[in-house]
Amino acid sequence: MNHQNSIQEFERARKTIPGGVNSPVRAYKSVGIPPVLIDHAKGARIFDIDGNEYIDFVSSWGPLILGHAREEIVEAIKKTAEKGTSFGAPTVIETQMAERIIEMMPSVESVRMVNSGTEATMSALRLARAFTGRELVLKFVGNYHGHADSFLINAGSGAMTFGVPNSPGVTKATAKNTLAAPYNDLQAVEDLFAKTGDKIAAIIVEPVAGNMGLVLPQKGFLEGLREITRKYGALLIFDEVITGFRLSRGGAQALFGIDPDLTTMGKIIGGGLPVGAYGGKREIMETLAPDGPVYQAGTLSGNPLAMAAGLTALNILNDNPQIYSHLEQKAIKLADGFRKNIADTGTKALVNQIGSMLTLFFNDGQQVTSYDEAVASDTKKFAEYFSLSLENGIYLAPSQFETGFVSDAHTDADIDYAIKANREALIKMKERE
Ligand SMILES: *Cc1c(COP(=O)(O)O)cnc(C)c1O
Repeated sequence: MNHQNSIQEFERARKTIPGGVNSPVRAYKSVGIPPVLIDHAKGARIFDIDGNEYIDFVSSWGPLILGHAREEIVEAIKKTAEKGTSFGAPTVIETQMAERIIEMMPSVESVRMVNSGTEATMSALRLARAFTGRELVLKFVGNYHGHADSFLINAGSGAMTFGVPNSPGVTKATAKNTLAAPYNDLQAVEDLFAKTGDKIAAIIVEPVAGNMGLVLPQKGFLEGLREITRKYGALLIFDEVITGFRLSRGGAQALFGIDPDLTTMGKIIGGGLPVGAYGGKREIMETLAPDGPVYQAGTLSGNPLAMAAGLTALNILNDNPQIYSHLEQKAIKLADGFRKNIADTGTKALVNQIGSMLTLFFNDGQQVTSYDEAVASDTKKFAEYFSLSLENGIYLAPSQFETGFVSDAHTDADIDYAIKANREALIKMKERE
């Protein structure tokens, strides 16, 4: 494959954009090659500016559950744009969007639209702190909740496990208010609550972790979080920015039967446009301005184009529940195909999968159920696998610690091709060893 145009354009971008990209992972740093720049995409196919074609398993990092440039969504955006792109005033489609989300997401009784997942989580946290009158938040190591200061925290060492900033610019004062526990470690959560539970406003969790590669919640983990938060009067925030409307019509909360107090959403609800939302129990949401004292606002919040795209996507998902079983069948086929290739080639790797999400970890352990197990993966092997896949027309997220997404647009032939490409890559890697 020729990548000449991408190489040139990336060099050009680096002169005017930090690192050449507007979100760091796009620079392919962890796979050691320059990124391809995209020209266009349709359905499950994505095309770069050198004219190369790939089967896409990134789905814009999750939003495009219906595939690229889905006709109904493109039409809705066009029709809406002709009527004006922003009014900064209430519109009916915002109410329709709220009604649709509330109908689909079991725990949500009231919902506020924002412009990104980051905005959703930082606003939900402010609300949780205000509602409980407490300042601490507990998050899990390896979970990602966007880039607000409070969440850019690593677990600290020492008795109190207060967090430490994992980015320059995050103050120690902010980090002090974030506790970090290992994912799937209920005992660690219990210990933290036993020490300081009366000061914890909320636990925020990815009910299925998708940002350290795919890591599933172990049996009893989410139930345990619900119990502990109830016991200590803290709120449980499900960050369903990835899992919402993906793992089921009602997200992870419907799948696992858990009733969180607040839910953050994003990605799929924008239909490919920039959107986030947070919602939950009416009693909590009522404390938001203008009815209550907790401030949060947005010039472009509830933007008509984003609402039109997102509502169209949600309506399609809501009206066609069979989409979810088809997505899962395709992902299971992919995961099983990969597992057979891994066994046949004697590769040290394993596959985690749930619904339409999956990650192949180059890992010689028995399982990946925690951040520590995830980071034990061989990132050099992944980089090699990534490049071989790209050259074979498979577009993957350029990091071992990301999740692959199957979309409604993937055909059975696409899945078969991806299994074959995986086999070829693993064989080549074995030969080079
Ligand atoms: C992507 C993501 C976010 C952040 O959303 P942005 O729209 O990128 O700000 C938050 N939480 C989770 C779980 C995510 O995957």
